[in-house]
Amino acid sequence: MVSTRGTFIESKENNSFSAEEIWRAVLGLLQIQTTRTTFETWLKPTEGIFFQNGQLTVAVPTAWFVEWLERRMYQSIEKALTKVLGTATTVQFQVKSGSKIGGSPVPSLTPTEPTQNVNITISSPPMKFNPRYIFNSFVVGTSNRLAVSASQAVVESPGNMYNPLFIYSGVGLGKTHLLHSIGQASSDVGLTSLYVSSEQFTNEYIISIRNGTSEKFRNKYRSVEVLLIDDIQFLSGKEQTQEGFFHTFNDLHNSGQQIVIASDRPPRSLALLQDRLRSRFEWGLMADIQPPDLETRMAILASKAESLELSIEDSIIEFIAKRVQKNVRELEGSLNRVVAYSDLMNIPVTIDLAISVLQDLANDAARHSVNPDKIIEQVGKYYGIDTGEILGRRRTKNIALSRQIVMYLLSYELEMSPTQIGRILGGRDHATVIHGSGKINAEINEDHQLRQDVLTIKESLFT
Ligand code: ADP
Ligand code: MG
Repeated sequence: MVSTRGTFIESKENNSFSAEEIWRAVLGLLQIQTTRTTFETWLKPTEGIFFQNGQLTVAVPTAWFVEWLERRMYQSIEKALTKVLGTATTVQFQVKSGSKIGGSPVPSLTPTEPTQNVNITISSPPMKFNPRYIFNSFVVGTSNRLAVSASQAVVESPGNMYNPLFIYSGVGLGKTHLLHSIGQASSDVGLTSLYVSSEQFTNEYIISIRNGTSEKFRNKYRSVEVLLIDDIQFLSGKEQTQEGFFHTFNDLHNSGQQIVIASDRPPRSLALLQDRLRSRFEWGLMADIQPPDLETRMAILASKAESLELSIEDSIIEFIAKRVQKNVRELEGSLNRVVAYSDLMNIPVTIDLAISVLQDLANDAARHSVNPDKIIEQVGKYYGIDTGEILGRRRTKNIALSRQIVMYLLSYELEMSPTQIGRILGGRDHATVIHGSGKINAEINEDHQLRQDVLTIKESLFT
């Protein structure tokens, strides 16, 4: 239920804000927090249609929007809603019926991993593996060949040569995909396998101690033939759980059961890990996955396009592959984004489309063309103030405001440190900068005019 708190909500109850008005206010807040492409693509085509009992229903053109908004924007949306209404409010997305844009929902585009993965890690077994994470859909290249061969060897001959198999890499390079592949392939040949994140392992362990069900816990883990434990780095610093894991590990290892571990770094770099555990991790085979080279990235995109039954020109695949280099999840995300946009707007996938959709990913290139001088110049221009005044000492209302907006933009758009900003602004103290940029950051949430002003300035920076 909506409770009365703050002035905004009071006026709301008196004048009874409509769903449409509430959502428009939310969009106003989000516009300033998101990139232009994101806003135009995902937020602008939405509409507040219903508000009751603390729940706002928002109509969106296709199912793809529901996925995307829930996945990527939910927290920001809830935060903005709370700000607008002064009370916690939930939002629900609903695909507009009879919508022209997009037409059919885009089921084949259901993005990868996160949701499924979250389900897997929080639901207790028997768990399902993500059906898309199989060896067949994993593109092999020099960057991951060792990890893939070792993973396959483990299925063929569990508990034998590589025990444990320790796979490590940076984020988004396929560790979870490989763990699921091993799990599935093991099940296919009749082995019992269990996939857990180290967080889930920790929770279960702690609960078992609290409830005095350690025996049950041990039996559960001891009974599997292939234990897959993901993101082991989260065991760092958890002494008690490491103890539990140490015993589980020994039980399994002693009886020749297979253990596969994934980590975001090699054992020796796992700080706060008991030495005896670290050395056990190094007993078997350690296989790293490196970021894929261009050729592999292109193969991954091509395979992804094929699984979506899309034909996309090589030049476009190459364009995308060149833009994202270090993270396969982002690579796939870029392709999804281009495809979703083409679907949404009902236009073919062309290079031009890819360029415009991926503009803000072309990240740094575009961003870097914005520099401090340009920010100072555009802010000055907007308020009709000389650059020299912004850098100077005078503190009339307008000059002080422009200066603070410059601080804000240097900090939030260029991610410069307060000290750097202070230096640029004629040797100001870093505390002054923190105060100034923080003040603008807070005020744009309250002050409609200021928000519009900053938005206009931002647009002038990026065009
Ligand atoms: P990690 O666990 O290392 O963070 P994931 O296994 O979650 O990474 O992989 C991120 C995404 O990239 C998943 O959708 C996965 O299917 C995909 N992916 C990663 N590497 C490959 C590859 N070599 N071939 C095909 N897809 C891959
Ligand atoms: Mg993972």
